[in-house]
Amino acid sequence: MTEETKTSSNFVKNIIIKDLAEHKNNGQVITRFPPEPNGYLHIGHAKSVCLNFGLAEEFDGRCYLRFDDTNPTKEDVEYVDSIKEDINWLGFQWDNLYFASDYYDKLYEFAVELIKKGLAYVCPLTAEQMREYRGTLTEPGINSPARDSSVEENLRFFEAMKNGDFADGERVLRAKIDMAAPNLNLRDPVIYRIRRATHHRTGDRWIIYPMYDFAHGLSDMLENITHSICTLEFEAHRPLYDWYLDVLNTPCHPQQIEFARLNLTYTILSKRKLLELVQDKHVDGWDDPRMPTIRGMRRRGYPAAAIRDLCERVGVTKKDSCIDFASLEACVRENLDASAARRMAVLDPIKVVITNYPEDKTEELECANHPKNPEMGMRKVPFARKIFIERADFMEEPAPKYHRLAPGKNVRLRYAYVITCDEVIKDASGEITELRCHYHEDTKHGKTPEGMSKVKGIIHWVASATAFTNCEVRLYDRLFAVEFPGSDRMCDFKLDMNPDSLEIKTNVKLEPILAGAPIESYYQFERLGYFFVDHELSTKEKLIFNRTVSLRDTWRKISKA
Ligand code: ATP
Ligand code: MG
Repeated sequence: MTEETKTSSNFVKNIIIKDLAEHKNNGQVITRFPPEPNGYLHIGHAKSVCLNFGLAEEFDGRCYLRFDDTNPTKEDVEYVDSIKEDINWLGFQWDNLYFASDYYDKLYEFAVELIKKGLAYVCPLTAEQMREYRGTLTEPGINSPARDSSVEENLRFFEAMKNGDFADGERVLRAKIDMAAPNLNLRDPVIYRIRRATHHRTGDRWIIYPMYDFAHGLSDMLENITHSICTLEFEAHRPLYDWYLDVLNTPCHPQQIEFARLNLTYTILSKRKLLELVQDKHVDGWDDPRMPTIRGMRRRGYPAAAIRDLCERVGVTKKDSCIDFASLEACVRENLDASAARRMAVLDPIKVVITNYPEDKTEELECANHPKNPEMGMRKVPFARKIFIERADFMEEPAPKYHRLAPGKNVRLRYAYVITCDEVIKDASGEITELRCHYHEDTKHGKTPEGMSKVKGIIHWVASATAFTNCEVRLYDRLFAVEFPGSDRMCDFKLDMNPDSLEIKTNVKLEPILAGAPIESYYQFERLGYFFVDHELSTKEKLIFNRTVSLRDTWRKISKA
């Protein structure tokens, strides 16, 4: 991932350029991506990944991957492993790998130092009492009865917390800042809490765990991060981030910079809610192709470059905005168009017999793999007397301006001939089972012989005897039916799910060459969209093709109709 890293300007870059000009941080740029390993990465995280790794690349700096694993109850190695894989798949490699849990000893020492400076105390208030004592935006808070206990007492109690002499929630360590501060985050925030839970890395060694605000800034500092980039909701936490570093007089002081989160229409980007979809089996796991996770998008066939493009195009700002899902799909189409080989596939087949074409004849038509890229070569597509076309490409009583097949009408078969429909055969229930047509031999490869009027409609087809059928095609639609899921019914976003987000096509006819399609290869099925061979579900006996995206944005029309 180097050629396309030349990116447009944004306010974070401008800060870095200025810092470099002033030779701040010894002219170094060190960023980090700091996920909490409590879920899989989603497209919102991709924005932060692209930003942090992209800046390091652009300014010849470094970017670290640090797991902010200070909440043992929700974290797991499964998530650690998946996050690493997803970052690599997105095209990035961290310079160092860290875990906040590796700093537990150091963080404990910092907390002791705060106590010794008279800047932290052990507090016996319950969580509920603490909320009451905290005050409001218009009312100052009330001091904890333990606020003025002696340094010795606090040291003793903090050690007792560590040693397990208190029950969970019985004591916390708090910073002594200002119970009347207009910023509520500065009203004696909690630094350590007691939680008897097994941590995915430190096991049962600790029963006290540092709070995010305390651990995060100090971890940044321990890694010599120069620019600590986070999302806007941390803006009000910045004074606290700075306070810890200032009072501990740390050797370096990373600069926290906040930017707006990426939001996307027709989906949700909250790990908690995504986990709910997985646990309640509304989707088929974190990597379900309808999920906005990196895994899901990968399985659906979105190229990593398309996700990087989207992140670049939406830019980095301080203003919250919501990106239209269609913009993401446009990036995906653009990326796939240039490199996807063209193939023909019929997903809803109807049989066509070309009555004047010899029974024992098969032609191998030479077809280009890509209309604009001759380097992608040619392939042979068999043509014979019996073929399949899409049911939707025939109308018994054609609507005005319908240019596809109808009784007595002509249509061109892509790469092959013009055919005319002579007869419609139906079963007892009236369902069409076969179309009888004749072909015009002198129309091969797009030719229009003299005397024939130009045929407007071109349709795709697949020869019957040689069709590849050991496969299934999955058509996906948006996971949610509304632009902002849950916005009308604050309590249950799941009520906004699109009930038709997955359609499985089992009676499909594909060009025979697709029998050899490798796992994770992608194609454009002409007129139908881009398709990707699913790596989870495909077997030797049966290939599963996921539709990555249709050729056009049909959703906008449908949803506004
Ligand atoms: P969630 O709220 O879904 O649990 P999170 O913000 O808690 O997400 P983290 O693991 O803390 O998830 O995120 C790692 C990094 O990714 C953080 O720096 C966070 O700010 C950033 N990030 C998370 N969501 C988005 C988003 N939608 N857009 C941009 N950056 C994001
Ligand atoms: Mg977070």
